[in-house]
Amino acid sequence: MASEKIQFENNQLLVPDNPIIPFIEGDGIGPDIWRAASRVIDHAVRLCWQGKRRIQWKEVLAGEKAYRETAKWLPEETLQAFRTFRVGIKGPLTTPIGGGIRSLNVALRQQLDLYACVRPVRYFPGVPSPVREPQKVDMVVFRENTEDVYAGLELESSQEDARALIAYLAETKGWHIRPGSGIGIKPISKFASLRLLRSAIEYALAHGRKSITMVHKGNIQKFTEGAFRNWGYELARNEYPGSVVSWEDCKGNPPAGKIVIKDTIADIFFQQALTRPEEFDVIATTNLNGDYISDALAAQVGGVGMAPGANINYQEGYAVFEATHGTAPKYAGQDKVNPTSLILSGAMMLEHMGWKEASRKIESALEKALASRQVTYDLARLMPEAEEVSCSAFADLVCALMA
Ligand code: NAP
Repeated sequence: MASEKIQFENNQLLVPDNPIIPFIEGDGIGPDIWRAASRVIDHAVRLCWQGKRRIQWKEVLAGEKAYRETAKWLPEETLQAFRTFRVGIKGPLTTPIGGGIRSLNVALRQQLDLYACVRPVRYFPGVPSPVREPQKVDMVVFRENTEDVYAGLELESSQEDARALIAYLAETKGWHIRPGSGIGIKPISKFASLRLLRSAIEYALAHGRKSITMVHKGNIQKFTEGAFRNWGYELARNEYPGSVVSWEDCKGNPPAGKIVIKDTIADIFFQQALTRPEEFDVIATTNLNGDYISDALAAQVGGVGMAPGANINYQEGYAVFEATHGTAPKYAGQDKVNPTSLILSGAMMLEHMGWKEASRKIESALEKALASRQVTYDLARLMPEAEEVSCSAFADLVCALMA
């Protein structure tokens, strides 16, 4: 069976039965969790379609393996493969120190303009959690991925440029910035905000979600965070009048068939996500808020070892799914860590491809595996009467529990 490329036409992915999918194994624990996750993904696809559909994996290099073999941390061929084949998946990557790259993940997101970081956060029964009712957490975070303070526009306090900018701002704006300050620029554009907010709304509509909450610090940062919020309401009013209604317009009671769009200040959101998580569904937010929020919510349902993620450019059909934790180098090669984050990212990828049956099979087998209390060390140490199993044994268990 010849392998084929996933195509993107008229804003839709066209997925052949035997798509070529590039993967980056990742550094540190990457090879362990990739072996485990790819086995689970392949098994689910085989069970659903008995060989009629099959993923043709194509390894591409990034991180330490790429540096060893090509002397580059992120070779152009890797970026090209993600462009050519559209959908890919990756393990965690080391952040090179002094390599001229801030972060390989940020570089990958920027090069492919993967503007939406999508993080579903839900609870699997039996998983240890620091909160009393973790089952109430069921949110999908849409985090803007390309701007905000992540744009990397910073001047060190000792730089002449920083001094010159401080002087310029004093002269032209009358702003008195303390001499010797480092300066960071926070750009939030209408263009990037709208495409992120549109993705969140489209997702909420396509997945039968009830609400979209814009999380921001617009009370303080009016023209960046506040503008993000205002553009969101404007977008809902102009482009989705038949399907989305603002909280203010419906006084919190959306008519049947409509979803509600609301907003909350980031600090209040952190409180309410703990005290009233059931009030939140799809979250749309700026880059830095989204970074904090994704990990804080993941903590409620068992930590980053349990949280899947994707970086998506919906307009051009590019998507890279990824484990959300790092390379945990002290466990590298020990077949020890929890592969759930990458397994769930694989399930998310299958859903994105329209292979929903396989995605659901993985999620339901994972539910059973976690409920059986045969889990990796990170969960076993927190679960009474758990049996600790290796990374590969956990993957075997998930495969065995797929009906
Ligand atoms: P980390 O690799 O996520 O590890 C921190 C701790 O989290 C581990 O020591 C371990 O906790 C726990 N952990 C992480 N993954 C786990 C898994 N799959 N199963 C069970 N426990 C897991 O964070 P880090 O040590 O700060 O970063 C290490 C490297 O990863 C750095 O180079 C960093 O830049 C990079 N990084 C990459 C990504 C990415 O590629 N997306 C994301 C974050 C960090 P215990 O020690 O308690 O067992």
